[in-house]
Amino acid sequence: MRTIILLLIYLSYPPPQGLPTGTLRWIMPAGTQGPLRETPLGQKGDTIPPAAKKLIETYPNFISGYAGNHLIFKDKTKMLWDDGIKNKSFKTLLDKPDLKDMFTQKYTAGLLREPLASNFDPGRIRYEPFFLKMYGATEKAVEKNLVEITWCPKLVGQRIRVTKINGIDKKLAQISKELDEHPELKRYLTNIGGTFTWRNIAGTHRHSMHSFGMTIDINTAYSDYWQWACKCSNENAVIKYKNRIPQLIVDTFEKYGFIWGGKWYHYDTMHFEYRPELIQ
Ligand SMILES: [Zn+2]
Repeated sequence: MRTIILLLIYLSYPPPQGLPTGTLRWIMPAGTQGPLRETPLGQKGDTIPPAAKKLIETYPNFISGYAGNHLIFKDKTKMLWDDGIKNKSFKTLLDKPDLKDMFTQKYTAGLLREPLASNFDPGRIRYEPFFLKMYGATEKAVEKNLVEITWCPKLVGQRIRVTKINGIDKKLAQISKELDEHPELKRYLTNIGGTFTWRNIAGTHRHSMHSFGMTIDINTAYSDYWQWACKCSNENAVIKYKNRIPQLIVDTFEKYGFIWGGKWYHYDTMHFEYRPELIQ
């Protein structure tokens, strides 16, 4: 009995003040008389933004949670979520985004709704350190995780190199298997334009997503690219949309977490990249 009384006294003792970030806190649930509960949240009032939740769900091998404006990785490192800079221009969003900015534009799966608003490029805003951390920070580090798969064994049979991080090799093998049942799509799927190349996007200091082995360009001969249309590389140019890629190809990639560059104002219809966090 004495032990129970002592325990009750201990449990009703007020929460300790000034706990450092990351320690457990004692919280009295609102409107109740106890018992007291413990929560592993890092800071008072921490709520997880829906977009951060999406990252936690879609990259379970890497991310363990969110606390105090940071994504928490399984290796105990953390990455800033919101840098607090408001009203970034489109160019700044491309050049200096934070994790939160990646979700500024909403990518919608399924049929494309035209016309695309100027600079509406959902998926082109990428916080590079996030991808360098998962797929490799150097060409050699990325290459270590690359494997060869046979793309569309019946229709094409081309060997391509892709990363095995996040199960991307398996996902691409599955996409390939499904598309392989459609001979009418063969001309779009032959002569794969490229998967892995460690390089910057022309004219920028930003890495091309092809640097990470999680991106594939299908046949360029049936593809369209905004720079070919305007014969320019000026992002501010007025661009006329063009696409020849059938919807079934787009739907199949999206089903496995790949976004399509054909849904961008600055369109690139050969381009598919693994960004499951964006697909809704
Ligand atoms: Zn591409």
